[in-house]
Amino acid sequence: MSFWYKKFPQYPENHRDHWRVVLVFHCLLIATFVPTIISLINVFVFADSTLALLDFSVALISLGAYFWFRHSANIQFASVLLSCLVTFMVSFFIFIAKGQAHSIAWALVVPPITFFLVGRFWGAVCAIVVFSTSAYVVYHQIGIPLQHTPGYGSLLNVIEASLLIILLFRFYERTQSQAYKQLEEHNLLVSELAETDRLTGLYNREKFDQELLTSCDPDKQTTPTSLLLLDVDHFKKINDSYGHLKGDEVLKALAEKLRRIVRTTDIVARWGGEEFAILLPGTEKALALSLAERIRNEVNGSLTAGISVSISIGLVSSSIATNSEMLLQQADNALYQAKANGRNRVIAA
Ligand code: GH3
Ligand code: MG
Ligand code: MG
Repeated sequence: MSFWYKKFPQYPENHRDHWRVVLVFHCLLIATFVPTIISLINVFVFADSTLALLDFSVALISLGAYFWFRHSANIQFASVLLSCLVTFMVSFFIFIAKGQAHSIAWALVVPPITFFLVGRFWGAVCAIVVFSTSAYVVYHQIGIPLQHTPGYGSLLNVIEASLLIILLFRFYERTQSQAYKQLEEHNLLVSELAETDRLTGLYNREKFDQELLTSCDPDKQTTPTSLLLLDVDHFKKINDSYGHLKGDEVLKALAEKLRRIVRTTDIVARWGGEEFAILLPGTEKALALSLAERIRNEVNGSLTAGISVSISIGLVSSSIATNSEMLLQQADNALYQAKANGRNRVIAA
């Protein structure tokens, strides 16, 4: 049946009206083919030409509405039109059938369609119209003995209305789970963006601060923690000589190198500008020192095409300072010392 459903580029899957469009196509499909079949049944089985004519005109109107909707993609007007049509046809059907042959079962189909298409207020109005019609016909039969025992018409009404209700609720469940899935993916993306540095793809400073705070929490700190602060030497000169875009490339290459060297349990972040921070949980000073030397050595020289780069590193371990601010201060002092001592070196606090 895919030929029946047209995909409108203005209503992609994440558009709030996407599922309304799908429901309009569903409804128009059902409203075209089901009345055609019922009209044939009414002609050949029940010999009821009035009902057959009514069903056939519903099918024709629906087919016309379908072609109009394919052409115009006007979901707002289509939703109003379809809600009015469904409400009117079901009310009219219950009214002329005098509520007999279980025709009232069709009233239950109206709220799930109209609430979805035209919202809470007008959905409720449509539901009230159809339920009032049902109540009206029942009211006028109070005390009157039933004239007919239920026949196949009753059975058909019950089966058709029930099937339609099941299909509608299946549809809603699908739209809802789809919406939750999209929301989850979106939230994941937002939280990833919130903790990521855009240029290098490393963690940003906010995320690093959080991690540092957690690792310095006395309740959680069971092993020593080391912290490295890295700063590119004379980076301003690199920018001045090769331009900012090349400077950016150097930062990205450095970030990539750091990511490759550290262990999966270590946290690497862009601290800001041309400064990086590395948190080494469970790492003693001696081990942190050798890792820092390795980083400095591997960076020393050229990171990207022909640009010579060196870095200075300040190191501190949690055996020296115990809270995150003190750790940072000590690492920063050590970095300052590394710069003062001539750059391209590691200094431990
Ligand atoms: P030092 O050895 O003392 O660290 O010298 P430096 O030139 O590296 O230090 P300084 O703090 O004077 O300069 C840092 C430069 O980093 C200045 C700034 O323009 C540049 N910078 C900061 N962020 C970025 C960035 O995202 N991209 C580029 N290309 N440059 C940046
Ligand atoms: Mg700096
Ligand atoms: Mg620098």
